[in-house]
Amino acid sequence: MSGVTVGDFEISLIRHSIHWWDGGAFFGVVPKTLWSQKTEADELNRIPAGFNCYLVRTGSHTILVETGAGDKHDARARERMRLPPESEPLPETIARHGFDPESIDIVINSHLHWDHCGGNTVLCEGGARPAFPRARYFAARGEWEHAHQRLSRDGVSYIDANYDPLVLSGQMTLVPGDTEVVPGVWMRRAPGHNRDMMAITAESRGRTFCFFSDLVPTTAHVQPTWVMAFDLYPLECIENKTKWLGAAQAGDWICGFAHDPQVAFARITDHPKTKFAAVPL
Ligand SMILES: [Zn+2]
Repeated sequence: MSGVTVGDFEISLIRHSIHWWDGGAFFGVVPKTLWSQKTEADELNRIPAGFNCYLVRTGSHTILVETGAGDKHDARARERMRLPPESEPLPETIARHGFDPESIDIVINSHLHWDHCGGNTVLCEGGARPAFPRARYFAARGEWEHAHQRLSRDGVSYIDANYDPLVLSGQMTLVPGDTEVVPGVWMRRAPGHNRDMMAITAESRGRTFCFFSDLVPTTAHVQPTWVMAFDLYPLECIENKTKWLGAAQAGDWICGFAHDPQVAFARITDHPKTKFAAVPL
C-alpha cells in the first residue's frame, strides 16, 4: 500500500530509488547471523535500502518529507551503492506517482545527511538551484550548525550544496527545536542517530502518521537495541526508540520508515521477545 488516509490528511510514499549499503553498518553490533534473517545481503555484504520520501497532503498544504539522495555523487560512489549512472530527478518521480511536484509548498528535512536532503537542490552552472522553487524548506538549526562543524566521525555525510543555498536565499527556515510547521504537522527532536534529528508527525482528527527517520530506519530496526553503526549516540537512540515506538503502539499510529526497501507503512505492536514488531499495512 503506497497511500493512506490519516484523519483529513492523505499520506503517500515516494520511494525515490533503492540503493545498496553495507549490512554491518546498518545493523551495528547485531551479528549477521541474526540480521540476515531479516534481509539478504549481496556478495559484497550490501543490503537493499530505500531512499524514502513521504508526501503529506493536508488539504491546505502539500508537504514533502525528505528529498532522497539527489544527483551530487560521482560515478564511483553511485557504483558503490549499486545505483544506475543517473537518477530520475525527484520531481519526475513525484509526477510519475500521480502528484504535481509544483504543488509542493513545504519541504521538511528530518536531518541534513545527504541521503535525506540530496534532492533539495539541483546542481546547475554557478551553483545549485532549488528543486522545489515554490516551497519553504525546514530543517533543525542545531543540525545545520553540526553539519558545518565537519567532524571527522560524520563530516562525510554532509554536502553543503543541499542546504546552504536555501539558507542563504532565505528559502530554508532553521527551527530551534520542536516546531508545528503547519497545523497538525510537527518536527520533534528525537536524538540518537545524531543530536538534532527530527521525527515528523502529521496529526489529524485523533489519528497520527509518524516518520521516524533514522531513529527507526527500517521495519527490521523496531527492536530497540538494533541500532545502526552510524548512530552517534546509541544509548540515547535505544531510549528514544523505546519511547517513540511505545507511543506509536499505544496510539495506533501509522508509521513510515526512511530506508525500508519494501514496506511503505506499518503499525507497531508489542512483541514478547523483541519488545516491538512492525505490522505492514
Ligand atoms: Zn538515512
